[in-house]
Amino acid sequence: MEHLWAPWRIGYVTAEQPEGCIFCVKPAAGDDEANQILHRGDLVCIMLNAYPYNTGHLMIAPYRHVAEPLDLEPQESGELIYCIRIAMEILRASFAPEGFNIGMNVGRVAGAGYADHVHVHVVPRWSGDTNFMAVVADTRVVPEALADSYRKLKDALAKRADEARER
Ligand SMILES: [Zn+2]
Repeated sequence: MEHLWAPWRIGYVTAEQPEGCIFCVKPAAGDDEANQILHRGDLVCIMLNAYPYNTGHLMIAPYRHVAEPLDLEPQESGELIYCIRIAMEILRASFAPEGFNIGMNVGRVAGAGYADHVHVHVVPRWSGDTNFMAVVADTRVVPEALADSYRKLKDALAKRADEARER
């Protein structure tokens, strides 16, 4: 599978994209469930990818519309990394992946669908998942599957918060 190292690229190339910058529009919309926003930090949020390459494909972005990791303030960089940790924890708890692809495409030439707003992809992986990935990448996932992932991950976030309080 030639795109294994950056599996999120295909979805962006083929998927029909909504108006505007989703990393600005979705957090500003106010309805987090409808916009698949899972976690809101102070400067950074975690959302489900509506055109996932795999079940539980998450994206992490700062609220600020900046193009590059180099444009991030130190606090934003720190929170971005912390959100990767949160994403991995809730994906492990919800879907028990065997591995992850975590990365960013910086610039359109590198395959970024939204090249003007920096974001990190977290894609859970299971052995053998490349067999159906090519199919999934060309098809918008059914909304029910997305809503189901959302609920599972929200539950995992709540559980994680409970455990943090108990410590
Ligand atoms: Zn933006």
